[in-house]
Amino acid sequence: MTYSFFIECDDCSKKYRIRYGLGNNYPQFASFQCDDCSKNIEIGHKEFKGKIIIKGAKHIEVDDSQYWDVTVQNLHPEIPTHNNAKNDPYYFQTANVFQNAFRNNLEKEQFQEEQQRWGTFNSKWDKIEMPLRILSTKGEIALREVCGLKFRELFNLFNEWLWTFTSGELEDDYENICDEYNSLELTDAKLYIRNDNKIFNRIYELCNTYMKRSHQFQSTILYQKFGWEVTEDMTANVNWEEICTIYGDLYEIVGDLFVIPTIMNNVKAGRNFDEFKTVEFSLSKYIQSDKAKRAMNFENNSNLSFLANSYFSWLRNGTHHKNSFLNIETNEVDLGTGKGSTIQKKISLTEYVKSTNELFGVGLILSSIALNMNK
Ligand SMILES: [Zn+2]
Repeated sequence: MTYSFFIECDDCSKKYRIRYGLGNNYPQFASFQCDDCSKNIEIGHKEFKGKIIIKGAKHIEVDDSQYWDVTVQNLHPEIPTHNNAKNDPYYFQTANVFQNAFRNNLEKEQFQEEQQRWGTFNSKWDKIEMPLRILSTKGEIALREVCGLKFRELFNLFNEWLWTFTSGELEDDYENICDEYNSLELTDAKLYIRNDNKIFNRIYELCNTYMKRSHQFQSTILYQKFGWEVTEDMTANVNWEEICTIYGDLYEIVGDLFVIPTIMNNVKAGRNFDEFKTVEFSLSKYIQSDKAKRAMNFENNSNLSFLANSYFSWLRNGTHHKNSFLNIETNEVDLGTGKGSTIQKKISLTEYVKSTNELFGVGLILSSIALNMNK
């Protein structure tokens, strides 16, 4: 459903006719930057059938004579918009989704099933946020006392939630790492992970960092689940300021969680979990190593190498030190990736959103394995 209404920018009074395509998930918000003054304007709903929320602008009425003179702004919280159609009064983002589904011979039921599953992503998280927080800060006994949950029950809830995110293109990757995990003798490795008193903190931090801004990352999810191409001319209706450091934050945590595939790979190669190919190298050296090198150990393991596919040090460096700037005309982000921000690289806004989603998916999968090791 797409509905339209008029707003006026709080700062420069430019008027827009918003055509808002309603998404499935709540809360849902879509943002754009004002053409004239670049203020971020955010529109959406907190809850199902809840009233429309407008930030950075106010709702106005426009008389009929002005109707077609006001700039149209198309917004959708869950589907990317073609750049050249963002002001087109006859454009529907959902038409692209149906075209893609048709081209890929996707059954309507299959699409709806995926959409419905995805619609439970936030509510499933709401159920485990507190238990996971308590586990990470207070431990297993408190989890039982405060939430009435056994560790295994939380583990199952976590995996149910994970499934809403990984179903689709990430399914095979998840199965591959589980196969690898089940094929290895990991008694000592599990003991090592169980003794790591930061592991639950990392899992909670990973999830909380992403979930606090998850509504900003929705626009490419369905495309990613079905493996449809997100092209450079598409843009996401997001607030760059709110999300620009999220990739880097996740990168740091995923870099730490890479200890899991690393020790798995050591065992796979016939060594002890803490022994590396280079004899002088050790697990304690690995843990202190540069984050950019944390995936090297398992990059040739076909069941684990996918974990590094969205782990980019240039994107982490380019976004994490106030080094990135959004060009609101082109919807591209300029990244300063070298020392002193010397090397410039550009990435489209949708590419950033997509990469962040992929990295979060990897983090979720590793979190599930880490929880499994603690069972
Ligand atoms: Zn303005």
